[in-house]
Amino acid sequence: MSPKSRSGPSQGPLPEGPVRSCVGCGARRSQAELTRVALDPEGEVVVDKERRLPGRGAYLCGAGCLTAALKRKAFGRAFRGRAGKVDPLKLGQAWESGSGP
Ligand SMILES: [Zn+2]
Repeated sequence: MSPKSRSGPSQGPLPEGPVRSCVGCGARRSQAELTRVALDPEGEVVVDKERRLPGRGAYLCGAGCLTAALKRKAFGRAFRGRAGKVDPLKLGQAWESGSGP
């Protein structure tokens, strides 16, 4: 017999450092693994890859979660109603452009 080492989720130990929940699927991951989205000065939701926009951010772990978050209107909640405009097309393009090294 070989009992599984630990009961509970098969995700293993949580990563070190700040941990955020993905607003698309709710998974908790290290902030470094997630992509940040934030509000630009006009209040539009944008992908903030360089993490230089001030204020609240929301985090996503993958492109699929971007779609899920849009469907769930998760950004409205994440930004407490301050998200003025959400452009799914623009977000998708920003997400894909220059993703990864
Ligand atoms: Zn996710």
